[in-house]
Amino acid sequence: MSVTHEQRMQKKKSVIDEKIAAAQEERGVLLVNTGNGKGKSSAAFGVVARALGHGLKVAVVQFVKGRSDTGEEAFFRQQPNVHWHVGGEGFTWETQDKERDARAAQAAWEVACTYLSNPEIGLVVLDEMTYAFKYGWLDLEAVIAKLLSRPLMQHVIVTGRGAPEALREAADTVSEIGNEKHAFSAGVKAMPGLDW
Ligand code: ATP
Ligand code: MG
Repeated sequence: MSVTHEQRMQKKKSVIDEKIAAAQEERGVLLVNTGNGKGKSSAAFGVVARALGHGLKVAVVQFVKGRSDTGEEAFFRQQPNVHWHVGGEGFTWETQDKERDARAAQAAWEVACTYLSNPEIGLVVLDEMTYAFKYGWLDLEAVIAKLLSRPLMQHVIVTGRGAPEALREAADTVSEIGNEKHAFSAGVKAMPGLDW
């Protein structure tokens, strides 16, 4: 006897219901948004909006200062429950000064640590932090230890390409965002309101 569409859907629903019933834990989650595709930072900022909607307090620390006129910064700085910090001085191939980049990343990390010690902050976004490991600006093990000892209910999102393996292992949720195609490769400029 062939299985009907309705039977298949019922089976699927019962499997999903079981999984929902099994997921009982309530705690803060460590997310890593990595990969070469577009959407790592913008997904994190989407979660910022989501968190604010639930009354959470949010801290955003940007480790690499690409530009100072982004839409997300202009918008979220107006929100009373958002703390926004820009750390890095610019991409390393622009500054050509490794020591200065390292100091900027370390200063950003110190700011981040104040939020990672504060249980009143419900969400911490560490935007473009993965570059700090790639260039050796921060000690990976020390950062992971701090992330794992944060307040129980606090969520953290780390973004950036090439997340190191140890960080992926420490995280609860890892999204590897792939690049199928990107308008920039076809000559479209980075567009305000979409890319920054
Ligand atoms: P977004 O902030 O748009 O979510 P992202 O955080 O995933 O992007 P980054 O590596 O931080 O990506 O790059 C920031 C800028 O580079 C953004 O303007 C983004 O649109 C652009 N970008 C992201 N991925 C690509 C890509 N695969 N090719 C070209 N440009 C990209
Ligand atoms: Mg980004």
